[in-house]
Amino acid sequence: MKPLNADLHCHSTVSDGLLTPDQLVRRALGNGVELLALTDHDELGGLAEARATADEIGLRFVDGVEVSISWGDDQTVHIVALGIDPTNAALMRGLHQVRSGRDSRAGLMAEELDKVGIHGAYEGALRHAGNPALVSRSHFARYIAEQGHAKDVKSVFDHWLAKGKPGYVEHAWATLEDALDWIDGAGGIAVIAHPGRYRLSKKELHGLFAAFKDLGGRGIEVLSGSHKDEEVREFSRIAREFGFLASRASDFHGPGESWIDLGKMPDLPEDLTPVWSQLV
Ligand code: AMP
Ligand code: MN
Ligand code: MN
Ligand code: MN
Repeated sequence: MKPLNADLHCHSTVSDGLLTPDQLVRRALGNGVELLALTDHDELGGLAEARATADEIGLRFVDGVEVSISWGDDQTVHIVALGIDPTNAALMRGLHQVRSGRDSRAGLMAEELDKVGIHGAYEGALRHAGNPALVSRSHFARYIAEQGHAKDVKSVFDHWLAKGKPGYVEHAWATLEDALDWIDGAGGIAVIAHPGRYRLSKKELHGLFAAFKDLGGRGIEVLSGSHKDEEVREFSRIAREFGFLASRASDFHGPGESWIDLGKMPDLPEDLTPVWSQLV
């Protein structure tokens, strides 16, 4: 049987994506996606529009969100929640609390960037974000690239915004425990996003998987837009070892700014259990 073209991770203008929820859903259908989840960062505000378009054009849709958490020694980890009830009060409250730290963090980032000659970054990033509660490093990156300090958004991260660079500011996001409670309470499945992107040793990563599983976490993104073939093999092995459901995720943010377009990932290894077997 032909595998389902599922894409369970992408972003709209309601976080740091470049397309509106409506545009994103239409693009997904055009790309051959058969099951789509919108997973904006710490924000549920795009789901109603995305679902309305998905219903209109006949695309199966999953309500999602990508929750920012802090793990270990100032490592940010992202947990994708799939199949949540977007009206769940505790989830809404928790995400609101996570978002409320973004504006002051942005102010601190701008102060640091100012010291190294990048001026006006708070206002510039806010112009891209449109809302202080949503302002992210992606919005800073767009401003900094636009000002000619780097050739593209990716190199802005390498020079200015990644951990250890001048514009990086430590920040306390949600805890893993809280995030998993909110997701479980809202009826969702928790999935570790892009496990290949964290700067954790093998041992630390293993510790994260074990803690996540202990707390009720159920899946990992085996396929992510940012995973190399070798990482796909590694996280397939991890899914087998821990009994995790496997997800397939572009992490698309917009044309020209993403590793891969909606739905263009390879298929999951056949022996893994797709997370969507529990969603549809
Ligand atoms: P924040 O939540 O404000 O820390 O911003 C994180 C976002 O920045 C991620 O969701 C990605 O969209 C983007 N990002 C992080 N690292 C990179 C990178 N190396 N290249 C491009 N985008 C990145
Ligand atoms: Mn992002
Ligand atoms: Mn992420
Ligand atoms: Mn993402």
